[in-house]
Amino acid sequence: MKSECNLPDNSSEGGWIHCPRCYASLRDRVLGSHEYLCCGRCGEQVKSLRPGRTMIAAWAFAMAALVTFIPANLNPILIFSVAGNSQENLIITGVRALWMQGFQPLGALVFFSAILAPFFYLASVSYVSASWTLQLRLPFAGAALRLAEALESWNLLPVFAIACMVSVVKLRTLGTVSWEPGSLWILATAVFTMLTIQCFDRKCAELYLEGGK
Ligand SMILES: [Zn+2]
Repeated sequence: MKSECNLPDNSSEGGWIHCPRCYASLRDRVLGSHEYLCCGRCGEQVKSLRPGRTMIAAWAFAMAALVTFIPANLNPILIFSVAGNSQENLIITGVRALWMQGFQPLGALVFFSAILAPFFYLASVSYVSASWTLQLRLPFAGAALRLAEALESWNLLPVFAIACMVSVVKLRTLGTVSWEPGSLWILATAVFTMLTIQCFDRKCAELYLEGGK
C-alpha cells in the first residue's frame, strides 16, 4: 500500500522524515487508514492518511462550545403550556424537578453528564490544546489531559439535545410546546462539542506533554 503525505515539506529522505514544526527527524513508515505519525518531541501530527484532526481546530471548537455553553444554560429551552399554565424549562429545571420528585440519583446523573462533565471536558481540552498550539508548558496540563480523557465518555450534552427533541413529540400530545432561544444554544454547543471530540488528538497531546518532562 502506498502511503500519502498530506503535509508539503516532510518528504521521506532515506526512510526519515522531518517534523515541519521542530525539525526533529522521524523514522518514516507506511500507515494504516486510522494511523498517523506524531513527532516524539513536539507532538505535531507529521503524517496521516486522514487529515483534519488538528489540535488548533480542537482548541477553536472547544472555546466556541464553552462560549455557547453559557447562554445554553441561562436561556429557557422550551415553554410548555397546558390548561392555561405555562412553564419555562432550562437544563437545570429538569435536574431540580427530578430531585424534588425523589429521583435524586437520576437528577445528579443528569446534572453531571449534561452540565458538569461537558463544562470540565471542554475547559480541559481548551487548556491542553492551547498548551500544544502555543508550545507553552502550562502548569497542570498533564492533569487536564487525564481529566479530558476521563470525562469524554461522560459528556452527554449531544445526547441531551436529541432527548429534548424526542420529548417534545410526547409533550405535544399533552399541551403546547414552543421552542425558545436556549434550544439553539444547546444545539450549537452539541455540534461544537462533537467537532471538538473529532479534532482533539490525545496521542499527540500525550507525546507533547511527555516530551516536556
Ligand atoms: Zn516536532
